Amino acid sequence: MTRYAIEPWELPSLPIAGSEERFPVRRIFCVGRNYAAHAREMGRDPDREPPFFFSKPGDAVVEDGSTVPFPSATENLHHEVELVVALKSGGRDIPESSALDHVYGYAVGVDLTRRDLQDEAKKLARPWDMSKGFDNSAPCGAIRPAGEIGHPSDARIVLKVNGEVRQAGNINAMIWNVPETIAYLSGLVELKAGDLIFTGTPEGVAKVDRGSRLEASVDGVGTMDVTLR
Ligand code: MN
Repeated sequence: MTRYAIEPWELPSLPIAGSEERFPVRRIFCVGRNYAAHAREMGRDPDREPPFFFSKPGDAVVEDGSTVPFPSATENLHHEVELVVALKSGGRDIPESSALDHVYGYAVGVDLTRRDLQDEAKKLARPWDMSKGFDNSAPCGAIRPAGEIGHPSDARIVLKVNGEVRQAGNINAMIWNVPETIAYLSGLVELKAGDLIFTGTPEGVAKVDRGSRLEASVDGVGTMDVTLR
């Protein structure tokens, strides 16, 4: 048995809907600008340019029902509601045709973004890490196994802040669908069991204030309710 010099931490994990078991989270990959209307609101031409990715630490996940501190170092925190894919296996150069075989299940999540730090990073050609991969930046609902719900490709996705609808779209509007995303990403990194993929947000991203309650849903997949105190 490995002897560690300091006490090792528990794996980050998420609940699985209807189960006592939990899903261990390894890494969190996120797709940028994967809905045309969101690309446009961010001032970009939604051409089908190759997908691009950024990541968050695995322990940035926040589970359904939590209240977490409002993030530091931002005056412009944005919500981005997204379909989340949870992988049960991985590999390199996965073909689209078998990509869904690696999916354990799906959830709804929110890619919290320090938009002010991201705008500055874009302007100065600096990395996005501190605008995307901060503590508690990946609220995510319980995972629904694909064995129960199949592989959703046409479903309403909604985010409410304090009861008011802020984002409402359909996951069928993704520029790169889930198999294409898995195939492409597996050409950049070897995907592994436990990886989560946040698949991008529809339009309507906006500022969240201290004390806000975020309620997210994807029809047929699940819901998520997290408060930033
Ligand atoms: Mn996003």
